[in-house]
Amino acid sequence: MKIKLILFDIDNTLIYGESASRYYRQYSPLLEKTLASCLGISVPEAKRIADEHRRMFHGRGEKSFETYGVGLSEWYESICSLDPRPFIGEMPRVRSLLRSLREAGYELGAITDGPISQADRILSCAGIDKNTFSLFTGWIKGRAMPKGGEEQIFRKIITKKKLKPEEILMIGDSVNTDILPAQKCGMNILHVKGNGASEFPSISSIEELLQYLKTYE
Ligand SMILES: [Mg+2]
Repeated sequence: MKIKLILFDIDNTLIYGESASRYYRQYSPLLEKTLASCLGISVPEAKRIADEHRRMFHGRGEKSFETYGVGLSEWYESICSLDPRPFIGEMPRVRSLLRSLREAGYELGAITDGPISQADRILSCAGIDKNTFSLFTGWIKGRAMPKGGEEQIFRKIITKKKLKPEEILMIGDSVNTDILPAQKCGMNILHVKGNGASEFPSISSIEELLQYLKTYE
């Protein structure tokens, strides 16, 4: 069946490359620092707690905030305090990819578990117009993360867009939050695997996407 809607994860999928990776690599130590300050404990102790949660919850260290009853607002604010500008510059190739996809008739969506305001800033650093996407979903402060490793958001999109799941392709780098939940809903999935291996349909980076889509024609 022909793909009508392509959903992109943002962090390390649409926004990628060495410098962007350096930006995203700040998240783990920042989470530990934020947790330490929320709980009044040392950073090494916070790291121990975060690592334990990462092991238990498929890499989702932010679960520690919930375990300790402090909520996620401080973590949300911490991410927003990171300035993406020194790391994320114009990404003309991504812009041109998105333009080609729209010209080819695909509807595009972006979906991130990152704070929505930070997603705006990151895309604007990359020179990508948010209006490229007919659907733009991110983490709103005080609410749950939209994906969170669950299927709910993907089911909502299927209903809202009145599409069959097979008409949707979800593309992302995270097996647990992008690939598995979308696959469970019956969507097509494409794992952006980087240099790693993948047991799913995969590409190394989204630069290979146009080529990959030819397999659906
Ligand atoms: Mg990602």
